Amino acid sequence: MVQKYGGSSLADAESIRNVAGRIARSQQSGAQVVAVVSAMGDTTDRLIEMAERVAGSPDPRELDALLSTGELQSCTLVTMALHSMGCRAISLSGAQAGIRTDSRHRRARISVVEPKRITQELGSGKIVIVAGFQGITDELDVTTLERGGSDTTAVAVAAGLGAARCEIYTDVDGIYTANPRIVPDARKLDELGFEEMLELASYGAKFPPQAIEMALVYDVPILVASSYRDGPGTMIHKEPRMSMRVGQIRNRVRAIATDANVAKITARGLADRVGLQADIFGPLAEADVSVDVIVQNASIGGLTDLTFTVERTDLAAAMEVTEPVARNLGASQVTSSSDLAKVTVVGTGMQNVPGYASRMFRALAEAGIAIELISTSEIRITCVVREDRLTDAARALHRAFELDDSG
Ligand code: ASP
Ligand code: MG
Repeated sequence: MVQKYGGSSLADAESIRNVAGRIARSQQSGAQVVAVVSAMGDTTDRLIEMAERVAGSPDPRELDALLSTGELQSCTLVTMALHSMGCRAISLSGAQAGIRTDSRHRRARISVVEPKRITQELGSGKIVIVAGFQGITDELDVTTLERGGSDTTAVAVAAGLGAARCEIYTDVDGIYTANPRIVPDARKLDELGFEEMLELASYGAKFPPQAIEMALVYDVPILVASSYRDGPGTMIHKEPRMSMRVGQIRNRVRAIATDANVAKITARGLADRVGLQADIFGPLAEADVSVDVIVQNASIGGLTDLTFTVERTDLAAAMEVTEPVARNLGASQVTSSSDLAKVTVVGTGMQNVPGYASRMFRALAEAGIAIELISTSEIRITCVVREDRLTDAARALHRAFELDDSG
């Protein structure tokens, strides 16, 4: 059994003992238990802040080593709490647990899990507590994964051990049709497909996309449930393609994601020629800036405009790279705006069924919300809107797609 406990469930001594108690009970039910833990409360944020105070922009290698200590604290403390309850348990750092990664600090990707030590400790009857969010490179440097990466560690460990599923325990009791802090009528979902969850995670749901990618590739079902209360949670799994969910006949939108961390850059008057896009986006990729929605206007008189979105936190870096390149390519103007947000509807049932986009645009229009950019996949429609209209947009769409009462 592979479980994961989030930072808010480990914020203080009492919470740590509560988690240890749950882990102990899981073992008493006869399972071999591995638990992956996040850093206590807002430890990671505090460590980043501290590093920035001493060094402005701290060296990524040193920062990763520092951040990894957050998860080391929680995994050793949970292990000690288990000992005090009479359980045999051992803590392992990411490196000790065999989590190997590439060398991209702050957003490393897990390349392979070598769970030899975990298997050995389980074999000797111990509960294994693994520090999440971290790994080690071939050069033995400590890395950290994308934020929230303990979920990724948990899925990787579950895949590496061939566990039947990965259980993620957190401060909410599952995945909702929308963020309940934004849409009060949001409803917990019983189940969700991997592809749907991947889109939701990529478009704002608080879940690292890499964890879902890995779950999809290795077919590891993920249960998201509360670490405080027993309940059925939400099962994220491979969907039987042809099944029609009860109550989903009218409406195939399953959930809405919102993301307020959005900015856009527009370059006007670019000389339209083969290779233009590669010339603009190549340097952004080198600068490790990921670009999302891209819109290019039809060219008039050999000139075209290009608009794209980046994470707002990447805007300064993106402008620094884009401005000189675009000017070189003849741009008359390079502008940016940072007060944007994305609202996204997701559902595998939308595939090949017309009418969803128009329904989305109609609902936003009726709420008086202007759409700045649009992007779609087979199971997703995203509209970029002004950030100050994000809440209204999410509520309007939740209503328009009847997510509060559909099954
Ligand atoms: N502690 C890390 C973070 O805050 C990883 C995690 O919480 O899963 O991003
Ligand atoms: Mg955390």
